[in-house]
Amino acid sequence: MRIHTHILGFPRIGAARELKLALESHWRGELSETALEATGRQLRARHWALQRDAGLDYVTVGDFAFYDQVANHIQLLGCEPPRFSFAPEQSPLSRYFTMARGAETGTHTEHADCGHAHAAGTAALEMTKWFDTNYHYLVPELSPQTRFSLACERLLAEVAEAQALGHQVKAALIGPLTFLWLGKEKTHGFDRLSLLEQLLPVYGALLDRLKQQGVAWVQVDEPILGLDLPTAWRSAFESAYWQLNQVGVNILLATYFSPLEENLSLACRLPMAGLHVDGIRAPHELVSVTDWLPAHKVLSIGIVDGRNIWRTDLDAALAVLQPLAAKRNGQLWLAPSCSLLHVPFSLEAETKLDGEIRTWLAFATEKLAEIAILKGALAGHPDDSALAASRQAIAGRRASARVHRPQVAQRLQALTPTVDRRDSSFPLRQAVQRARFQLPDFPTTTIGSFPQTTAIRAARASYKRGELAIADYEQQMRAEIAHAVGRQEALGLDVLVHGEAERNDMVEYFGEQLDGFIFTRHGWVQSYGSRCVKPPVIYGDVQRPAAMTVAWTVHAQSLTHKPVKGMLTGPVTILQWSFVRDDQPRATTALQIALAIRDEVADLETAGIGIIQIDEPAIREGLPLRRGQWDTYLAWATRAFRIAASVVSDATQIHTHMCYAEFNDILPQIAAMDADVITIETSRSDMELLTGFGQFQYPNEIGPGVYDIHSPRIPSTPDMVALLQKASAVIPPAHLWVNPDCGLKTRGWVETEAALKNMVAAARQMRAAA
Ligand code: GLN
Ligand code: ZN
Repeated sequence: MRIHTHILGFPRIGAARELKLALESHWRGELSETALEATGRQLRARHWALQRDAGLDYVTVGDFAFYDQVANHIQLLGCEPPRFSFAPEQSPLSRYFTMARGAETGTHTEHADCGHAHAAGTAALEMTKWFDTNYHYLVPELSPQTRFSLACERLLAEVAEAQALGHQVKAALIGPLTFLWLGKEKTHGFDRLSLLEQLLPVYGALLDRLKQQGVAWVQVDEPILGLDLPTAWRSAFESAYWQLNQVGVNILLATYFSPLEENLSLACRLPMAGLHVDGIRAPHELVSVTDWLPAHKVLSIGIVDGRNIWRTDLDAALAVLQPLAAKRNGQLWLAPSCSLLHVPFSLEAETKLDGEIRTWLAFATEKLAEIAILKGALAGHPDDSALAASRQAIAGRRASARVHRPQVAQRLQALTPTVDRRDSSFPLRQAVQRARFQLPDFPTTTIGSFPQTTAIRAARASYKRGELAIADYEQQMRAEIAHAVGRQEALGLDVLVHGEAERNDMVEYFGEQLDGFIFTRHGWVQSYGSRCVKPPVIYGDVQRPAAMTVAWTVHAQSLTHKPVKGMLTGPVTILQWSFVRDDQPRATTALQIALAIRDEVADLETAGIGIIQIDEPAIREGLPLRRGQWDTYLAWATRAFRIAASVVSDATQIHTHMCYAEFNDILPQIAAMDADVITIETSRSDMELLTGFGQFQYPNEIGPGVYDIHSPRIPSTPDMVALLQKASAVIPPAHLWVNPDCGLKTRGWVETEAALKNMVAAARQMRAAA
């Protein structure tokens, strides 16, 4: 048997988020470039050592980035957008951070939940999600003027670094087609694929340099082979890889995240030395790939889940691998399914984690060990004690009473076909709600959160540490709520909110109160740049033991005669921003969460709350990479929302909120969620997004965000009136609400009050003109 082991990439942020700390102190001007580089070098050395010590055959070089791997490639390929007009004396690293963060770092702002970053001055590169992950990459800007050139000193230096440490190196790159695909065309009508011809010689030169440096294997990532590709892109693969293969370095073409489907035979016949496939996302394709891939090529199988935190069932993995290895004459490479960037660093730090659940998990470091154990077993010298420990953990998880709660299963079984239906259709509900709330035309509201002041954050943190007594904490939060309600009344808003002072994060807050969730202490995953998130882990059946938001909301309502809108996070968003169990379909977990939220909705209604918002900012990002799977996903996702919402009577008004995203291709499904009111982010697209809603004749009420909360700029009343007039041209004015783009938690009170004052004035002008 010739079994080789490797990974596609490792988390670079560091065991204790060293990279984050170093970056942020560098940006504050407290850490020099040299010192930052030293931190990078240290982290790389440590992470390579982990790979070697785990027994992997190669260490992977090229996965490290100070901000983002795509941004690294923008420099590597010499295509920094000319609009930055960098001064010749500016160092490459400082240019890199300017592209990532914009020119005036001091005014850089961001919004915690949406992940958008903005900078005044020269705008940063746009950021968008990396395939279907929660990682954000910086988008290359491509135009007919784009030129490429080889500027690869950093990558080659890292290769040399690893070689000097005695490692066997596999270099990793993003492939030319995926790089172009991820870019954005900055000129109308320009086809970025036309840049390929220019780009290939640069890749060729790069591969040649790597070869000269003695690199035996280069992993070239082309995850777009898992997408529905236009024909031109598919055919470009063949000529591109024919050309790259001329260099004579071994290319391992890496695919992941999605089945190859119609690109499977293409991927197998491309002229390269090896192919990596994702055996977690596309286990059903393993046999065909094994058959199709010519025998002289290396097959690398992603057999350990690189996207989730569960321990691998090694027996099951071996049962998959053994016949494949036999077919390949004993030659096989083993790896995690994709880069380990998407999982936390190591379980070692989780000393406080529930002991039983801890045995069910494997983070990046533990996954290295799993790969090595699989290699041993496959090669005929199994580590019996490691295999036994794994077997025991898997059996324990499968049988645990903490995972399976019979009452949850029974409730799912007993759902009636109408559980996701409101009593009446929207027009009837609208009439009842209008009679009840007597709101003016163009009613004003906000998205939920008000500024999270230092005092609020400090109170929450010291309560969490056990330093602030619960009574004192609650009193302080109630005072914050009273403050927020008072200001909203003074501003003249029509539908108020309690302000979310008690919430650290819109998913964590609910996860902490639901059964079936657990929280790690150090389970950080990079979201973008220095920013990390710590997703909750859903390990078992979800249910709601007690009301979660009722007391705060009722308190807020007791302070005002205006309606207070209760504020919940929706089932799909909770699912999407968590590590989800892999022992049942995502749809089932979504349904369980939906029922828990439904219970909260019912309790809010009983407590007299007449308007309830269920936020679903993540519904769009949950879309599968393959269009063929969209309908199935959208069917269960929208049903989960409706199940959460439909427990109320006609007179209770359900709102939902979604952040900036392309909605036009899923408007029927958004309409099918049947929220009485939807608020969306539109101001940055100058209401463009609303045109789709208009053309589609979206049936229910809409609040298009009239100002961008991501920017500290105070929007003027005339600006917002203009946007509302634009909106009125495409949406019946009687259906329009007036609200900001998103929650206000990242803003200060002064700007918030000024902005909302102008917003209320804009609504009044619209009413007067009607
Ligand atoms: N209700 C949340 C807030 O206002 C919504 C956040 C979001 O959409 N990301 O903060
Ligand atoms: Zn939002």
